[in-house]
Amino acid sequence: MAVIQFGMEVDFVEQTQFPKCQKCQTGDLVPLSDFGSQGASIPYKAWVCTKPDCGFNLKIRNGDVYIDEPIMSGSLHNARVR
Ligand SMILES: [Zn+2]
Repeated sequence: MAVIQFGMEVDFVEQTQFPKCQKCQTGDLVPLSDFGSQGASIPYKAWVCTKPDCGFNLKIRNGDVYIDEPIMSGSLHNARVR
């Protein structure tokens, strides 16, 4: 799969096929990556539906798969102690 780079949205859309969301059958599931506590990248840690009204998501945490968890706004994490 191609590496996602900003500024290449056109090629990205035309050349990459994502699986359809099985919940709403309308949106696409797109992979999101995360960074571990040591700074190592974790590619495709989560998949999220592109349709805002749907919000279906699937993510991996500590080897377990979590499906359709509520999406939390990033602002809620500002108070978290690092
Ligand atoms: Zn969906």
